[in-house]
Amino acid sequence: MIQRLLSFLAGWESGTTLLIAGSLLVGAIAFALYWRQRHRGSILSDSLTQARNRLDSLQTRDSLTGLFSRAEFDRALEAATARCDQRSERLCVVVVDIDDQRGINDRFGLEGGDQVLREVARRLDECLGAQAGAAARVGADEFALLVPGDRLAGLEAALRIERRFEPVLQIGGRAERISCSIGIACYPEQGARQRLLLNAEVAMRSVKLLGGGAHAEYDPAMGTAQRAQAQLLHDLRIAIEESQFELYYQPKIDARSLQITAVEALVRWNHPQRGIVSPVVFIPLAERHGLIGAIGDWVIAEACRQAAVWRRSGLRMRVAINLSGAQLRRDDLVEFIQARLAEHAIPPGRLTCEITESVAMEDTRVTREAFARLGRAGIHVSIDDFGTGYSSLAALRRRMAAELKIDRAFVCDLETSSDARAIVQAIVQMAHTLELRVVAEGVETQGQRDLLVKMGCDELQGFLFARPMTAQALTLWASDERPASHAELAFRPSLFGETLPPALDSVQPAT
Ligand code: C2E
Ligand code: CA
Ligand code: CA
Repeated sequence: MIQRLLSFLAGWESGTTLLIAGSLLVGAIAFALYWRQRHRGSILSDSLTQARNRLDSLQTRDSLTGLFSRAEFDRALEAATARCDQRSERLCVVVVDIDDQRGINDRFGLEGGDQVLREVARRLDECLGAQAGAAARVGADEFALLVPGDRLAGLEAALRIERRFEPVLQIGGRAERISCSIGIACYPEQGARQRLLLNAEVAMRSVKLLGGGAHAEYDPAMGTAQRAQAQLLHDLRIAIEESQFELYYQPKIDARSLQITAVEALVRWNHPQRGIVSPVVFIPLAERHGLIGAIGDWVIAEACRQAAVWRRSGLRMRVAINLSGAQLRRDDLVEFIQARLAEHAIPPGRLTCEITESVAMEDTRVTREAFARLGRAGIHVSIDDFGTGYSSLAALRRRMAAELKIDRAFVCDLETSSDARAIVQAIVQMAHTLELRVVAEGVETQGQRDLLVKMGCDELQGFLFARPMTAQALTLWASDERPASHAELAFRPSLFGETLPPALDSVQPAT
C-alpha cells in the first residue's frame, strides 16, 4: 500500500508535491503505529485493571472466609464512626475469637482448622442478618463485627452469636462443639475510633482468661488485669529457664487398710517475689501459651527422680502425675516417660498418669493412640475429675484406664445432697463392673469418709488425711514412725497432724 502511494505521488511534478507526499507518508506510518500502540495499550490497561481489581478484592476480602479483610474493616469503621459523629448515633465493635483453635488444628489438622474458620465466618455473617453492619476476619482465628446501635445492640448481637454457636459443627465426620470468647466496645463511650477494636479485643481476652465461652463489655480495669497477666507470663518463662518449680505430694489412702497406696505429685511455682503460686493460676496460662510441654517434662523427670529416692529408702508407693491435653497430643510423650522411668529404674506400673475425663474422652486418633501406647508401656492410667465430662461405658472400656477419680464436687456435696450420693454410688458400681479402682478426691470430713467407705470406694484422698506437702515433709513423716520391715507406708491420721511443716500453711489449695 505504501508503494502504491509512492508511485501515485511520482506523477506529481513539483518539489512541493514531493514534500506533501513525504509528510503524508510519515503521517500514515505514525497513524498506523499509533493504532497498534493504542490497541496494545488497551490490552495492557485491561489486564492492569483486572490485576488491580484482584488486588482490591484481596485487600477487601479475606481469601479463606470471603469476609472483609482487616484493612477493609478499618475503612468501614472509619466511615461508620464519621457517620455516627454527624448524626449523633452509636455503634459497637464485637470481636469474636474461637476458643482453642490451636487444639482444633492439633486434633483435625490445618484442613479441619480451615473448615472451622469458614463455618464460623458463615455463622457470623448470618448473625448480622439484615442489619447494615460488616463482618471481617481480623486475625488468624479472630473475627470482628460492626453493629449499628448502642451498648444494648452490642449485647444483643453477642447473645445472637452465642445462640448461633450452640449447634454442633461437623469436622472430619465428627460432631464438635465450638465455643467463642466475645468482647464488645461501644462508640464513642467505650473507646475512640482508633481504640475501639483494641478495646473490644481487651474485653474478649478478659473472657478468654476466665475460660472462654462467654461475652463481656469493655471496662478500663480489664487492661490492668491483662497487663498483670502479661507480667505473669513473662515471669513464667523465666521460671521455666530457672527451674523455679517444686513438686508437692498428696497421699492416696486405701479406704480399708488406711495404708498409703500412692502419692499424687502437684506442681508449685516458687516465685521469688510472689511466693508460692498455685497451679490453678499458672497451668492454664502455660497451656494457652505453649509452655506446658516444658513444665510437664520437668514434672515427669522430677517425679521419677523422687520416686527412685523413696524406693531406695524403702517407700515403695506408686507416684501419680497429672498430664494436660497438650502433653497427650505430643508424639514422643510415652517415649519420654519411658526414658525417665528407665533412667531411675522405676517399673512402669509404679507410675500413674492422671488425665482429666474431658481430655481422656476426646475421641481423636491422637488421644486414642496415646492411651493405647501408655497401656502397652504398662503405665497405670487414672481418669481424673470423673463425672464432669461425658463418658460412655464403651469408651471407658476401650481407654484401658486402671482407676477413676470421682470429682471433688460430688464428694463435697455427699452429706447434703441425695443426688450427689446417688451419682457417687452409680460411679462406684459402674467402675467396679469395669474392674476399675475408684478414688474419691477432696475428702474433708469424717462424714464424707464414712459414706464413701460404705459405698465401696477403694481409695480416698483429701485434707482429712493430708494436704499436699513437700517430698521432704513426706519422707520425714514416713521415716519417723515407719516399722523397719514395712514395705508400704502405714497411715496414721494423728501422725499427719503432728508433722505438718509450718510452710504448708502458705499453700493455697484449689477451691
Ligand atoms: P487435681 O489434679 O484435681 O488435683 C487436686 C487438687 O485438689 C489439688 O490442688 C489439691 O491440693 C486439691 N485438694 C486435695 N485435697 C483437697 C480437699 O480435701 N479439699 C480441697 N478443697 N482441695 C483439695 P492443686 O495442687 O492446687 O492443683 C490444682 C490442679 O492443678 C490439679 O487438680 C491439676 O489439674 C493441676 N495440676 C497440678 N499439678 C499439675 C501438673 O504437674 N501438671 C498438670 N498438667 N496439671 C497439674
Ligand atoms: Ca489429679
Ligand atoms: Ca482431680
